[in-house]
Amino acid sequence: MKYFTKSSVCFLVLSFTLSFIIGSGTAISKPHKVDGENYPAGRIPQEIKNNDYPRTYYPNTEKLAANEMRITAIGTGMPNQSPSNMAAAFLVELGNGESFLFDLGTGSTDRLAGLEPDYSKLDKVFISHLHTDHAGDIAALWVGGWLNGRYTPLQVYGPSGSTLELGTKVHVDHLREAWAWDVTSRAGTLPDAGGEIVSHEFDYSKTAVIYDKNGVKITSFPAIHIRDGSVSFRLDWNGLSFVFGGDSVPNKWFLEEAKGADVVVHECFFTPEQWIKIAGFPYKQAYWVTSVIHTPPEGFGKLMSMVKPRMAVAYHYWNHRDIELEIFERVRKTYDGLLTMADDLTVINLKPDHIEVREATFNEESWPQGTSKQWDTAPRGEPATGLMSEWLKKGTLEGLNPPPKEPID
Ligand SMILES: [Zn+2]
Ligand SMILES: [Zn+2]
Repeated sequence: MKYFTKSSVCFLVLSFTLSFIIGSGTAISKPHKVDGENYPAGRIPQEIKNNDYPRTYYPNTEKLAANEMRITAIGTGMPNQSPSNMAAAFLVELGNGESFLFDLGTGSTDRLAGLEPDYSKLDKVFISHLHTDHAGDIAALWVGGWLNGRYTPLQVYGPSGSTLELGTKVHVDHLREAWAWDVTSRAGTLPDAGGEIVSHEFDYSKTAVIYDKNGVKITSFPAIHIRDGSVSFRLDWNGLSFVFGGDSVPNKWFLEEAKGADVVVHECFFTPEQWIKIAGFPYKQAYWVTSVIHTPPEGFGKLMSMVKPRMAVAYHYWNHRDIELEIFERVRKTYDGLLTMADDLTVINLKPDHIEVREATFNEESWPQGTSKQWDTAPRGEPATGLMSEWLKKGTLEGLNPPPKEPID
């Protein structure tokens, strides 16, 4: 005979209550239209007057002004993971309703999901280089965004390499091949176009405009990071500028392109001594990693003293209490301008006359906002059938899954 413990009784009561709530109260997940934009059901974005921002940013509760840019650090960490900081990714949202992603490192799409974004807009990713901590979540957005409302192809902009094989086009082609099992299995159920991924490879060695649409101009320029094929970006829109530094030592192209820009993001790595303590590397390798292929705090500070942005933003380290203060103090030895030590979910609102820096917060159990009518009705092919052997299908235990309540053909 089994006896219920106190906790198992509590669990049963909780399960019953949860199933009751879910069964009776959950609205159908469809976005609400506010001024033609998709927002999660029940969320009412407010206009912010007189720069009177709430101290915390709650996603989907604030309207951007026509001349405003919102920059959210989705990931600010490292290739060797820590739960405190996902790998590199920044989301830029503009007052004209457009969104751009700069890098999409491993884990960053989890943070992105917490923001409950309109995935139909998240169809442009600009990749600085093909390290996993900058490009590791492309496939996660490609498929996850498709399920969550994107009905157009995912556009990936990224640099060439020293050979064809080391460029963004081959990387994306291989992603397509690597995930063929996944993507072809969803054919017909999801919109056809959303399952496509398109690469836009550009010459890493040139300073050039690589995107120019609807008043948004994005320039790529070379970065110096281990091998050929790393770049940084500058976005210009409506008189505002955002610069995103891919991994690099301080370099002349960054100084030229970022000089005097509004919000300038650049890596700010650990010191060799910190890296020895954190990762256990011998000094020689620790110096190589922190100071030959990356930019340590003093280098970041000196560079920003030359760039003189309205706001300098440091990332690419863990914000752990025992090391963050030392990184900050070392930056402050060489730079005394406006500074944000970005953490995951640091949010920067940029206007011609104002910069607001806050942290975002979200519900750990955030929902996607649901698919839109455009997603529901976008062209689809035939449902994926014939992908399974007859003998496999015959192993189904018939009658266990409930039959459909309405016609599904
Ligand atoms: Zn990196
Ligand atoms: Zn890198």
